[in-house]
Amino acid sequence: MPNSPIERCLTMSIHRQLLARPEYVLALSALENATFARKTARAARRDEVVTIPIVVHVVHNTPEQDIGQDQIDSQITVVNQDFRKANPDVVKVPQVWRDRVADARLEFKLADADPRGNPTSGVVRRRTGVTEFGTDHEVKYADQGGSDAWPADRYLNVWVCQMRQALGYATFPGSPAEIDGVVIKYDAFGTTGTVEAPYDGGRTLTHEIGHWLNLRHIWGDDGDGCSGTDFVDDTPNQAGHNRGTPSYPRLSCGNGPDGDMFMNYMDYCDDASLIMFTLGQVERMDAALAGPRSTFLPQQLRERLRA
Ligand code: ZN
Ligand code: CA
Repeated sequence: MPNSPIERCLTMSIHRQLLARPEYVLALSALENATFARKTARAARRDEVVTIPIVVHVVHNTPEQDIGQDQIDSQITVVNQDFRKANPDVVKVPQVWRDRVADARLEFKLADADPRGNPTSGVVRRRTGVTEFGTDHEVKYADQGGSDAWPADRYLNVWVCQMRQALGYATFPGSPAEIDGVVIKYDAFGTTGTVEAPYDGGRTLTHEIGHWLNLRHIWGDDGDGCSGTDFVDDTPNQAGHNRGTPSYPRLSCGNGPDGDMFMNYMDYCDDASLIMFTLGQVERMDAALAGPRSTFLPQQLRERLRA
């Protein structure tokens, strides 16, 4: 689709393709049931900070796309701030929502051991003949010009490459291991190097990791309707996605006086406007971590959260 506008995120269309697989549908509905059960049972809360190892696959066709280590490091810094409520711009959250801003108690580090246990930088660099990747997961297969995933139960795979249609996409829990992870366009990754405004704040990865931990878009993925849901109780009902840098309040679906929570990481605004997760979203991510993502938890914590 040359010259068509680039999408912020294509996770839901990936999701809809995967719905053709019965095992995916089963895994997701089991997780949805468990998430609901945890919510109603007020399940054990996690106070421990969990660190998730990331492997970054830099799949490049041009020298520019072979992004520098400083750009990768700048992206890790952003997600470490955003998932700890330590982002400096969190102070811009409107007063009415300040008590809903949540520390997700998740940290990220570049993997220091590869799947065989050998020391690694956590960065895999692959030269490719593919000039632009689509969203059919080709970048996740070495034999299609990409780079094979590391075991998805131990690593968050992040592929960085040139993409045609979108800034990023992720897989929800329950996806096949060989495609499980996040893909980010090389100029929407990190805060330095090849990154381009207005997607130069590293928030594309924050948003996509939200999906990887089962968060839905805040407007409920119903086009511009008022009947969709993100399955989270403390985010306002919202019509469609927001773009750019809206001003508070922005009303839709009769959600005044406070309006849309357009500053939530799971909306589509420019990076500078996306600054928060809510407590309800973190509960939802915790359900994913207690379930299909529990291989990322230390053993003791896994047992306690499952109990
Ligand atoms: Zn998204
Ligand atoms: Ca909606």
